[in-house]
Amino acid sequence: MVLAALAIRTMTILLTTLNARYSHASLGLRYLLANMGELQPVTQIQEFVIGARSTDIVEKILALRTPGEKFIVGFGVYIWNVIETTQIVAVLKRVAPDVVVILGGPEVSHETGDQEIIRLADYVVTGWGDVSFPALCQQILQGPQPLMKVHAGLQPPMAEIQLPYHLYSDQDIRHRTLYVEASRGCPFKCEFCLSALDKTAWPFDIDQFLQEMEGLYQRGARLFKFVDRTFNLNIKTSLKIMQFFLDKLEAAPHDPVYAHFEVVPDHLPDALKEGIQKFPEGSLQFEIGIQSFNTEVQALISRKQNNDKAAENIRWLCEHSHAHLHVDLIAGLPGETMESFAQGFNKLVALGPHEIQFGILKRLRGTPIIRHTEAYQLAFDPQPPYTILANKDIAFADMQRLIRFARYWDMIANSGRFSHSLPLILADAAFENFMALSDWMFANTDATHRIALDKLAALVNKWLLEVQGTAAEAIQLAMSSDYAGQAMHKQGNKSDPSAPPRQTRKEASREAAKSLPQRQARHMAA
Ligand code: SF4
Repeated sequence: MVLAALAIRTMTILLTTLNARYSHASLGLRYLLANMGELQPVTQIQEFVIGARSTDIVEKILALRTPGEKFIVGFGVYIWNVIETTQIVAVLKRVAPDVVVILGGPEVSHETGDQEIIRLADYVVTGWGDVSFPALCQQILQGPQPLMKVHAGLQPPMAEIQLPYHLYSDQDIRHRTLYVEASRGCPFKCEFCLSALDKTAWPFDIDQFLQEMEGLYQRGARLFKFVDRTFNLNIKTSLKIMQFFLDKLEAAPHDPVYAHFEVVPDHLPDALKEGIQKFPEGSLQFEIGIQSFNTEVQALISRKQNNDKAAENIRWLCEHSHAHLHVDLIAGLPGETMESFAQGFNKLVALGPHEIQFGILKRLRGTPIIRHTEAYQLAFDPQPPYTILANKDIAFADMQRLIRFARYWDMIANSGRFSHSLPLILADAAFENFMALSDWMFANTDATHRIALDKLAALVNKWLLEVQGTAAEAIQLAMSSDYAGQAMHKQGNKSDPSAPPRQTRKEASREAAKSLPQRQARHMAA
């Protein structure tokens, strides 16, 4: 179907979303733009950040329309922005009811019958939007008008999807995280996860993908965040990707790249380990999903994981590689008690990853976890992000304690600000001691957010001294090291960035720390 040239010049399609932070550049919108075909010249992207006023955003959106012309606005809807996007769509349809609103994204791809935002919108594309969104726009502009509101996105062969990386602007490359993907989907079926519905993974052509990465690198990109659900699924491909980065690191050690991958923990063959070992400090991060070490829970939620192998691999990574490890656990899964979660947590702490991402179970729309609702009395918050409130084994009050634990853990342990004090806090019972600190902190502050660093340090100090009975000298030594480490890290950020022509690996990794995400840099400095 070919559009009239006049129509192509005058109409506009806006692709928009609310990112969680400015630094997150939306890969999804760039995919849509790259695949708009002949509509691409009249399509543009405008991203916003959550927290802005709905009316301001609507005003900015409407300022982009050509008066008197048809205007299509496509919103990317995710769990973190659905509440605000609903408000924006409501205001937009009030003040400009003729604007055509199309929704897409995981939050509107399932359970479409009972969502306010879908009631307000004109159309929804569920699942993959690469070919179905442009096709729907063509139909809206050319007619006949689509009869159905909800359109199931077609999944084209991977080779037919245009890659979007040239659409990252120079500004994006300089200031934002660049998300990239060498594959989509996941072959595993963990019931709390939306990727469980994929049943398999689909790779992009690896050579073409690496050519795109080369293009980004040549334009100055140094931080690459892979969103592939399982980087180490196909080891041949993983090795090719790692070699791409190793070549860059070798060619320009003074200007290092940094790559982030999600990996399954029980699959690290020797060839992969060899490659991992070659990465210098500050150039590699792994996000590793453990979720639970409880085999009964794993069986209940259809998560296949060899716990011994997973633990062995995490230990190996800690001891024999420079990879920064960020390991995920989830509290609130069906069948997981406070005690079994504590055991898993302690086991993980003993393995020594740099960060433990302590997540609380959420009921993502479309995930099969709800089949346990009755048997395990799963009670989820009806509002996004649909966090679990209580279940058969963990009462509401205890789930609240776990949520606070997660928050304080992030501030104290994951932040890297208390690297020397943390061992004093955790001692020989990490979960139990940190829970005691967490309960005490909340009782004394009634707050889990906006606690200034100095106040936080004073609270930790007081708890160690007065509640835990830790020796004052040991606390002082640890605290002063933590403060000294932070001061050094700050100084490092201010130092002259002009690097000598050749550097040792250690020097190069110190250089890398300056451009690293803050937490990793602090963990390296500790
Ligand atoms: S949790 Fe990870 S391994 Fe499991 S289905 Fe989701 S993406 Fe796949």
